[in-house]
Amino acid sequence: MKYAIVYRDDNRSRELTEHFHELADTHELIHDEKKPDIVLSIGGDGTMLQAFHKYIERLDQISFVGIHTGRLGFFADWKPDKIEEVASLMYHSSEKDHGLRVVEYPVVEVEITTAQGVEKRYALNEITFKSMFITLVAQLSINDEPFETFRGDGICISSPSGSTAYNKSLGGAIVHPAIEAIQITEIASINNRVFRTLGSPIILPKHHHIDIVPKSQQGFILTVDHQAMQLHDVKSIRCRVSPDKKVKFARFRPFPFWMRVREAFIGTEF
Ligand code: NAP
Repeated sequence: MKYAIVYRDDNRSRELTEHFHELADTHELIHDEKKPDIVLSIGGDGTMLQAFHKYIERLDQISFVGIHTGRLGFFADWKPDKIEEVASLMYHSSEKDHGLRVVEYPVVEVEITTAQGVEKRYALNEITFKSMFITLVAQLSINDEPFETFRGDGICISSPSGSTAYNKSLGGAIVHPAIEAIQITEIASINNRVFRTLGSPIILPKHHHIDIVPKSQQGFILTVDHQAMQLHDVKSIRCRVSPDKKVKFARFRPFPFWMRVREAFIGTEF
């Protein structure tokens, strides 16, 4: 089995990366940064976002595993002291030739149409669309039908596995990643007797799409996970559950999603 590592730039993550390379030698795992079968992310959930984007062109051929060197994460869910077990599980899943057991989660597809053309991007957590300096005023349509005029700081559109990230801070619901959906949450919408938005998060199923069409041309900021870009002359932003890309995580042991949610946000003590 061929593996690659994406690690956070800190001492603990670097040490663990070195240690894994040593373990890999004894477990007949081949280091291949270009065409890995499995990508280890060593760091935090943010490191997994980097790994996802680094290998975005090979998502269908890669599974990810996350080892955390800080707090337990949603993507980074293996403790550092389990690294030998991870190497051994990787070796045995290739040795038995059963292939890896994986879980597949949906990702957000965003189509950005500007005066320069159309560009497609994919988000593991979410995209956000904001105006750079002034209030964002945009027409929101769902499945090509006008829905509302939005006024406020911006819009966040998250995947189920990203629902525990920015979406949660915006009051969005936590969605189990087995549900193929995207969630739309408002970022500080203006609501008064003149301006009105729905005010609640919306969850769209697969095959539905949302369009955001800005009412005036100004500078915009689009974030795709940890990456931010400035945009001008935006005609529309269209989001949906990606019909052709999913992200795969190696499932070496059961670790139910709701248990992660409890451990991350509530704690293990009762
Ligand atoms: P960052 O600002 O350094 O870290 C954001 C935090 O979000 C980190 O603690 C990270 O965990 C955590 N995180 C990332 N993905 C998560 C997930 N799926 N579920 C739960 N927590 C998650 O930025 P970053 O590390 O580059 O991550 C970018 C992400 O930050 C964005 O995708 C967005 O979701 C999030 N963000 C959140 C807010 C907010 O909540 N107000 C604002 C902007 C961005 P680790 O410490 O384990 O890496």
